[in-house]
Amino acid sequence: KEYGRANYQIYAPFMTGSTPYEELLLERELREALENHQLQLHYQPQICLKTGALAGFEALVRWHHPQRGILGPLQFIPFAEKRGLIASIGRWVLFEACRQLKAWHDAGLPKVPVAVNLSPLELRQRDVLADIQKALATTGLAAQYLEVEITESVLMQQSNPAQHNILRALQALGVGISIDDFGTGYSSLAYLKRYPIDKLKIDRSFITDTPHSVDDVAIVTAIIQMGRSLQLKVLAEGVETAEQQALLTHLGCDLVQGFGLSRPLPAHQVPSWWHRWGTQ
Ligand code: C2E
Ligand code: CA
Ligand code: CA
Ligand code: CA
Repeated sequence: KEYGRANYQIYAPFMTGSTPYEELLLERELREALENHQLQLHYQPQICLKTGALAGFEALVRWHHPQRGILGPLQFIPFAEKRGLIASIGRWVLFEACRQLKAWHDAGLPKVPVAVNLSPLELRQRDVLADIQKALATTGLAAQYLEVEITESVLMQQSNPAQHNILRALQALGVGISIDDFGTGYSSLAYLKRYPIDKLKIDRSFITDTPHSVDDVAIVTAIIQMGRSLQLKVLAEGVETAEQQALLTHLGCDLVQGFGLSRPLPAHQVPSWWHRWGTQ
């Protein structure tokens, strides 16, 4: 009951005030977590506002810590980045998401894509392209069913050629590219035309106070219009109320994701949610 009501948020992040010894301990625990299958992906549905159809899932990682309970990504991803463990975690997330989606497709569930988050560090340090090609080949998931979510900060370093090539190669493979937390990063929008982007995800902070905040409604309206002019899909994150969904439908937003529709679900709960959604 109320599973996933962000019950992990009561824990402080690992990094604040921890001693070098504690950090060493945590690093060891996180390494063990990878080996002992303590990491788990939850899947949050995204729907198309025009048709009401399920449009995809975002995969969000959790750590089922044997003593501390369920830890959310904000409590260990930054730590993992700092201690050089993000590549291993990212690779696991990618393979697991592809494997799970392929299994659902094979089980006859409607074919929708899965989105995985790539932190800026991963795009710089990991051979992401090789990892993605390997994950797709190993699991048999077609590239069109994979999306990567990256934040604006990744795209802001003045035309980084390596990065540009990775994104072009992903696009050539058929992997979708979304800008996560759109609007929170930088004021320059020049990167939107420099990189092959498919989708903007409007950050939750702009959605929370709609429809009441006149300013936020103006910002969301402008982003949706810009997305449409640039032929990008626009997804609103953090949609919690029917009023917010009605406003976004009215404004012509393409997709929504948020607690109003569903919290991120553990994999075993997805098929029944899917079934209920499809038949309502
Ligand atoms: P994000 O990519 O912006 O993911 C959306 C976050 O908002 C998720 O938190 C989700 O549970 C939460 N959320 C979704 N709908 C609502 C809503 O209606 N209201 C509210 N209040 N919150 C909502 P979560 O799962 O704690 O993830 C936090 C962040 O951790 C993610 O933010 C993403 O940046 C990062 N993250 C998650 N999984 C991964 C991963 O596998 N790899 C990397 N590198 N980062 C990850
Ligand atoms: Ca995301
Ligand atoms: Ca986001
Ligand atoms: Ca975020």
